[in-house]
Amino acid sequence: MLESLPRLPDDPILGLAAAARADGNPDKVDLTVGIYMDESGLCPVFDAVRQAQRALVDEEATKAYMPPVGDPAFNTGMRQLVFGTDSAALAAGRVSSIQTPGGCGALRIGAEVINAAVPGARVWVSDPTWPVHIPLLGSVGLQFENYRYYEAADHSVDFDAMVDDLKQARRGDVVLLHGCCHNPCGADLSLEQWGVIADMAEEQGFLPFIDIAYQGLGDGLERDAAGLRLLAARLPEMIVAASCSKNMGLYRERTGITLFLCADANSADALQSQAAVAARRVYSMPPAHGALIAGRILSDGGLRENWERELGGMCQRINGLRGELRRKLEAEAGRDFGFIEREKGMFSFLGLSAGQARALRSEHSVYMLDSSRINVAGVNAGNIDYLARAVGAVLRA
Ligand code: PMP
Repeated sequence: MLESLPRLPDDPILGLAAAARADGNPDKVDLTVGIYMDESGLCPVFDAVRQAQRALVDEEATKAYMPPVGDPAFNTGMRQLVFGTDSAALAAGRVSSIQTPGGCGALRIGAEVINAAVPGARVWVSDPTWPVHIPLLGSVGLQFENYRYYEAADHSVDFDAMVDDLKQARRGDVVLLHGCCHNPCGADLSLEQWGVIADMAEEQGFLPFIDIAYQGLGDGLERDAAGLRLLAARLPEMIVAASCSKNMGLYRERTGITLFLCADANSADALQSQAAVAARRVYSMPPAHGALIAGRILSDGGLRENWERELGGMCQRINGLRGELRRKLEAEAGRDFGFIEREKGMFSFLGLSAGQARALRSEHSVYMLDSSRINVAGVNAGNIDYLARAVGAVLRA
């Protein structure tokens, strides 16, 4: 029976990363996969994570299953991290949550719950969006509509077009929004624009579903959550999928959470039970290690300070790299790259054609996606000049 299944193509991003690893050129530059890399090109373990992990290993008394909703300290800490310690909705008990295997698990549980409420619901996704959104949500049975978002010509959000498209979203529909640091384009909504989305959600009754996988890597932990908090202060209902992969560096520990903002505490309780049953259908119980680490960091003053300091340093480094890359590219290529500095988080489209991206790979060992999406954190003092010269050469060719 199984022999009828064909070999499927490799994931294009992971395939490119593998090609970069196999490239023998000592000057090669890998800007493909969305992981944070430090100046030495490594994806580091946070110091607070090391400390929390050590304590956890010493103290851990059992490997019995986690409860289906996960670690209580993790849930409490993440609710506050996402919604803010002063959130009225939190104080009113209107938020419930479930620990999930990464942000992907969080999106999947959100989709399962949405599909339980409205089978085959329409989900509006930005054009472009993170490609994995489609199989993650679509395999549950949800349907998709695109809303225009990124205007490639001027590297910014075409907000008028977005609003125009979302005028068709109605009660029973879901609008998927990137909480901050849009993947793949790096172009985020202003707070004023979040306010317009809140007006539309109020009037039209659609449900916002916020994917926030990069909180802390754009403008800092608080400001990166400001848009979704604005929605939370005004709307009766919202779902948030959050991840600790990037902002705590817990990628392989699969640490995420789905949060449900509900009209009242009873509904929040009902949603948590729905989420737990959905998780039971998919994977039963969440993995423990990452969430126990994150829960400790979020609830221990010293560890938390240490984590926030290191994360703040990463955020500053990314923003510094954005400025530097802009200057070097402008000097080499003689065109405007100011958008790189206006965007947030780890990603940017450089605005090259697929042919130019391929020429960068074959002629210069510079690896970026065909869309010219780069991981800004893959740039460092050791490769930035080479990268800028290579891009300049390809643009002049
Ligand atoms: N959403 C977006 C937009 C992402 O970029 C990612 C990670 N690349 C995720 C969700 C999921 O992250 P993870 O499952 O690794 O926590």
